[in-house]
Amino acid sequence: METVIRQPDEQSLAHAKEIINKGGLVAFKTETVYGLGANAFNEQAVKDIFTVKGRPADNPLIVHLADKSQILWVAKSIPPLAKKLIDEFLPGALTLILERADNVPSVISAGLSTIAVRVPSDKTANAFIAWAGVPIAAPSANTSTRPSPTTALDVYEDLKGKIELILDGGECTIGLESTVIDARTETPVILRHGGVTVEQIEKVLKVKVKTNISDPKKPIAPGMKYRHYAPNALMYYVSYDKPEMVEKLYMQCQPQKTVVMAIENTLPAPKDYQNFCSLGIDARDAAHNLFRVLRELEKQYEVIIAYACQEEGLGVSVNSRMKHAAGENII
Ligand code: AMP
Ligand code: MG
Repeated sequence: METVIRQPDEQSLAHAKEIINKGGLVAFKTETVYGLGANAFNEQAVKDIFTVKGRPADNPLIVHLADKSQILWVAKSIPPLAKKLIDEFLPGALTLILERADNVPSVISAGLSTIAVRVPSDKTANAFIAWAGVPIAAPSANTSTRPSPTTALDVYEDLKGKIELILDGGECTIGLESTVIDARTETPVILRHGGVTVEQIEKVLKVKVKTNISDPKKPIAPGMKYRHYAPNALMYYVSYDKPEMVEKLYMQCQPQKTVVMAIENTLPAPKDYQNFCSLGIDARDAAHNLFRVLRELEKQYEVIIAYACQEEGLGVSVNSRMKHAAGENII
């Protein structure tokens, strides 16, 4: 199958609609990362998403809608807490876990009674979902375990020959995935850190939110237990409170094959490293750049030493991705 990359216009959106109608898959830009979409009501098309990505069948998908008024197409009800979150953060980088409506195929939720729902704020995503006219089930458009795609070319690199169309709306603005929050009760639980921060959510809800991320053996978001976002290089994650460990690790590696990656001005002497890769000037930049940088660095180096962001705001989300990418190598 030939994979074409097209900017969203009437012709390419009509083509996307045709592909979705006949049960095919379309990759499309969102503000978080590129998604790999299928008609959420077409069970076979949803199964094909898992096959194309090599995604484990017990890792459920997020359903994307063109407008927040459509949430009851896929969810049984909207509890008061969810309503507040919807009013404040949607469209945007927040995914809500709600009770799944009976007409939605359970394969999307990997058999769970719940459904993950999001309304993107991105122009390309909205145009595509609106043209398709159906809810779109979509995980990130990468091969499972690889860094998520933030450009159309990243999608092409992973899925060339496996899908017909990539809707290229340019580089993703946020650059990492949505925050996933269980919004079914009065005590919200964050299942995955992402584009909307804990601080933002607590400010709106005026309650402390819980996180269920720390115990990797008991995740409520099944996807969090897998190795994820991993580059084809040996990657180390060094915590923010241990900057001296970056130098120590570096001394044990071959300088020409090793790169140190961090936000500018957070490491004591970045000039000491033969290869230093800046993630930008703050956590927002780091979120925007991380996945793209991982895909670039894996082509040049054998070892990536990633120095964490401060554990606040978007830094928490960036750190969570870097830790997953590093697998066991967390210092
Ligand atoms: P991705 O598709 O790569 O953005 O990942 C989606 C994330 O949302 C994964 O971590 C999933 O496990 C999580 N998720 C999707 N649906 C549900 C659900 N019904 N309950 C809990 N977590 C979910
Ligand atoms: Mg993913």
